[in-house]
Amino acid sequence: MFLFCFQIMFTACELGVFDLLLESKELLSSAVIAERLGTSHIGLQRLLEACVGLKLLRMERKDNEGLFGNTDLANLCLAKSSPRTQYNFMKLLSDIFYPGSQYLIDAVREGKNQIQSLYAIASNDPFEYVYSTEERLQRFSSAMGDAWSLHGQELLSAFDLSCFQVVCDVGGGNGALAKEYISLYPKATVTIFDLPKVVEGAKKKSVSSEECRISFQGGDFFKDPVPEADLYILARTLHDWDDDTCEQLLTKIYKACKPGGGVLVLETVINEDRTGPFVGQIYSMMIMLFCDGKERTQSEFNALLNAAGFKEIQSKKGNNYGAILGRK
Ligand code: SAM
Repeated sequence: MFLFCFQIMFTACELGVFDLLLESKELLSSAVIAERLGTSHIGLQRLLEACVGLKLLRMERKDNEGLFGNTDLANLCLAKSSPRTQYNFMKLLSDIFYPGSQYLIDAVREGKNQIQSLYAIASNDPFEYVYSTEERLQRFSSAMGDAWSLHGQELLSAFDLSCFQVVCDVGGGNGALAKEYISLYPKATVTIFDLPKVVEGAKKKSVSSEECRISFQGGDFFKDPVPEADLYILARTLHDWDDDTCEQLLTKIYKACKPGGGVLVLETVINEDRTGPFVGQIYSMMIMLFCDGKERTQSEFNALLNAAGFKEIQSKKGNNYGAILGRK
């Protein structure tokens, strides 16, 4: 049921239902929506009614006809044109994660990722397939970025980070989080350190003059030196790797970090008693299909950060993600 609910939401999103209703100043009938989107009326009417059931749309009856409009949630997250759209992330789920879920049973049986079966590749590098074409790379980078338009400001303001002016976002993808960072901390500059392919792709998309405080450096964080900084951000990067690999990366960052500097980890944090949150449990299952990482508890993060040398660890929980700050 859950999977099908997602597909209903994604279908409406992909067809442009929520964009049409966001632009429209009035409620629209199913016949008008179907005509403007070029779909069958019978199919669209059923889709709209299911979206009402899912509380993504609202319906009012007039002259024995249903008229449809967006809910606030749809205006905010489901219209592709909304600045806080989650469309790219949903597309990644629909194209990659849900088809891949047929291998979940093997992942559970074997206790290891399934990328070799999923993509018929010899390598065990989770990013080899993800970045194997420009289209896949852009799809993944945009999908990752969606979360930060929604949760970025909340997490980056969990602590006063204004004392850190030279920031490096390690595995920072297309820079969506860096954009939120410079808008909150006007004196800061952010270097995004990510694989050369990702950096090339991000530079092509990166545009405006206000973003001159964001720069990109291509490299492999296991092989190459990381740029010098006061603050290192690791957002949803540790969850891709097993504990030993995380410790190796954190130790490297600790050595590069200026004294008095810090590391900010942004991840979904699992409750100490492992009863939730649900979203973290789901992400952990998704991760299991594609790599050797996992979502972690606060104690697990503390142990990793301490082992690398970081001290004075503070943490704050937000919606979906937590912010953890360690100091050198
Ligand atoms: N931090 C971004 C975010 O939260 O949206 C992206 C998170 S994504 C799950 C993990 C990131 O780590 C990707 O951008 C990926 O390209 C990067 N990455 C993976 N392996 C890497 C490596 N060896 N060196 C540098 N970056 C790497």
